[in-house]
Amino acid sequence: LPLTQQTQTLLSFAGKKQHPTMDYSTMSAALRRHHRLRKDKLVVIMGATGTGKSRLSIDLSEHFAVEVINSDKMQVYKGLDITTNKISVSDRCGVPHHLLGDVDQAHRDLTPSEFRSLAGNAVSEITARRKLPVLVGGSNSFIHALVVERFDSSDSDVFDERSNSPISTELRYDCCFLWVDVSVKILTDYLSKRVDDMLKLGMFDELAEFYNSDDSDHGNDSATRTGLRKAIGVPEFDKYFGKFKPGEENNNNNNNNNDQVRRGAFEDAVRAIKENTCSLAKSQISKIVRLKGSGWDIRRLDATEAFTAVMTSEPGEKFTENWERQVLEPSVEIVSRFLKE
Ligand code: ATP
Repeated sequence: LPLTQQTQTLLSFAGKKQHPTMDYSTMSAALRRHHRLRKDKLVVIMGATGTGKSRLSIDLSEHFAVEVINSDKMQVYKGLDITTNKISVSDRCGVPHHLLGDVDQAHRDLTPSEFRSLAGNAVSEITARRKLPVLVGGSNSFIHALVVERFDSSDSDVFDERSNSPISTELRYDCCFLWVDVSVKILTDYLSKRVDDMLKLGMFDELAEFYNSDDSDHGNDSATRTGLRKAIGVPEFDKYFGKFKPGEENNNNNNNNNDQVRRGAFEDAVRAIKENTCSLAKSQISKIVRLKGSGWDIRRLDATEAFTAVMTSEPGEKFTENWERQVLEPSVEIVSRFLKE
């Protein structure tokens, strides 16, 4: 930001601790304000998986000139677009997206430090283009790594209940945190339906192709998996593909008995995906609650009514009406005020 005349005067007097018309405390308060103003602005859309964070970012793009930076741990990797639920190109409505499927290394974890550096560059570039950067995604460890003033990569898990290190409220950006929340009961039903929808969209074939192209030991348990192999859907279906190799579905030696075993294994995988997705959502919510409790100024937007409408027989209109009233309109107001500050 260009320095105002007043701030320039303040800066030139800062070292001398004196000013013809202003006492020192007024001057240092103005300096602090100047320092805060100089921070890049960043809108952060948080929330559990499935709560409509991507939708909100695109809705906001109708009101503000935004560019999106993805902060979902699995969506940073190239591949498994259906399984990781990446927003489609048509749903992006021309809004530029960064770190979404850009990282071509399915076999190594992108660390929070690396994310901090990559996403930090994206924030600077978007700000330089005079656009508003919007961070969107459910990985709270990535959000934390990006926004804190001082990030210590050795402090690997600030969210660990046993961790003694407090979560810092000193942030390197001027942040506006929006939390899209849905009651766990409704979200659980919705996530289960979403898994069924993802299967209809081709998740099974996508996972079969990933299995065939991956030459790792598919027996790895979750703790030792890396990169995209951790995405919910991969370990669950690895068990299935271990028994029923992709491409061998239509063998003539299949019989009814085999079909039943296959169907049972398929249903087990789908059930595990649904359970693990719900556990992920609960863990994400508890991390947001922890951040809020630590003093981050997170504004909660309750999308429960909108999602209830999706889960009942009501048509889409009801969803849109509730979404606009409970999520979009308050968000537009919060962001407008934030930009004027
Ligand atoms: P932590 O770093 O403590 O694991 P986090 O909040 O930073 O938590 P999450 O986004 O909660 O990260 O991801 C945790 C795990 O959830 C991932 O390792 C992956 O197994 C799964 N996961 C997250 N996002 C997706 C996704 N889009 N698709 C499939 N699986 C996902």
